[in-house]
Amino acid sequence: MRIDLHTHSTRSDGTDAPAGLVAHALAAGLDVVGLTDHDVMTGWDEAFEASRRLGVAVVPGVEISCERDGRSVHLLGYLLDPANPALLAELDRARSSRATRLQRMVDLLAADGIPISQEQVAAQVPAGATPGRPHVADALVASGVVADRDEAFLRWLADDSPYYVRYYAPDPARAVALVRAAGGVPVLAHPLAARRGVAPTLALVEELAAVGLAGVEADHPDHDERARRAVREAARHTGVFVTGSSDYHGTGKPVRIGAELTHPDVLAAIESLGAGSAVVRP
Ligand code: AMP
Ligand code: ZN
Ligand code: FE
Ligand code: FE
Repeated sequence: MRIDLHTHSTRSDGTDAPAGLVAHALAAGLDVVGLTDHDVMTGWDEAFEASRRLGVAVVPGVEISCERDGRSVHLLGYLLDPANPALLAELDRARSSRATRLQRMVDLLAADGIPISQEQVAAQVPAGATPGRPHVADALVASGVVADRDEAFLRWLADDSPYYVRYYAPDPARAVALVRAAGGVPVLAHPLAARRGVAPTLALVEELAAVGLAGVEADHPDHDERARRAVREAARHTGVFVTGSSDYHGTGKPVRIGAELTHPDVLAAIESLGAGSAVVRP
């Protein structure tokens, strides 16, 4: 069974609509795909419909933007209740803060002579989607200023860029509690992707495991072999499971859907823990 549990659609910064993403999963030979848009769950219904039509199982999820010590931490939540009021309130707050933050970034870029406008960025954000830096990158690509998202990030959009603006994001321990309270299964996404030193981030695995973290992503395109081994080791120590996922973003990133996979036993563990919603099987 081929299982990829972390992907993005046009409901956040992916480039495939949810149904198109499920079609891509089918074409890539996947049996199961997880839909985990940033801070939003509105893509689920379209993905479920495509699941039944195309014969690929869909694991509903979300990738919650968190912050700890000034750095971004991503928490995946699976099989949560999409109507949980506390969770929805937190995601709404994050999304509206993201919108304000993106406008500030565009103001800073434009003030410094980079040819970009609020209108050009707004045109890149699908209705209801969680706005993010990739949409600024898309606006720069659309007007021919850069060749692709990667170039935009390298030149102007990275975390340490002078144009970077923070947004409201909960502490990861609070996000773990929110996911659990919504009946969901919290999994720490790509803990070593930022490449800012192994020890502090793996300490976070330990800390979060004590408050309900169920798993951690080991196999991820941004983890090299050493990082994967370090994450597996931390998972063994703390008793959480490990997942593998592509973090597919459509044409927004070079990674293919299904490039990294999760073991079927781990999906079974997620299903036995998840109480807020269910895997949709065709
Ligand atoms: P934000 O959530 O708005 O801070 O933007 C972060 C998003 O940008 C994440 O989803 C990343 O997947 C994406 N991202 C980061 N670096 C790059 C890059 N070099 N090329 C394309 N997307 C990127
Ligand atoms: Zn993204
Ligand atoms: Fe992420
Ligand atoms: Fe992601």
